[in-house]
Amino acid sequence: MLHRAQYYWGSDCFFFFSHGEVNAIRQACTKLGSISLKGYTLYSTCEPCPMCMSASVWSEVDAVVFGATFSDAHKYWPQPSSLGAAEVGSRMVREPQVSVRAEVLREECVAVFDACEAARVGRKLEMPPHRDD
Ligand SMILES: [Zn+2]
Repeated sequence: MLHRAQYYWGSDCFFFFSHGEVNAIRQACTKLGSISLKGYTLYSTCEPCPMCMSASVWSEVDAVVFGATFSDAHKYWPQPSSLGAAEVGSRMVREPQVSVRAEVLREECVAVFDACEAARVGRKLEMPPHRDD
């Protein structure tokens, strides 16, 4: 499973496009030597943002499975968009469209957010730039 906070504090570079899902897609394509991930499923702790969901569409993954929703994530990191993964997937023109399965192990994924937030507070790390408080 991807950890949403990886791209803020767990990676070598802080960059808005460096979301866990995009990183996973890039790494999978590199490893496979292909720009297509047909036959694969992307698993994410949190509902992919529109950018990551679009990357999933472009990479042709068969399915996207996630646990926590935007509403869950918003309690920790206010989300800059409310465009959901299923809606992005439904706009695909390719058939079959990407399958989106939500709220798989949702409570466990939200618990990851709790642990991440506790670690952030304990380490006195700054909030992501789009958080208001
Ligand atoms: Zn994203």
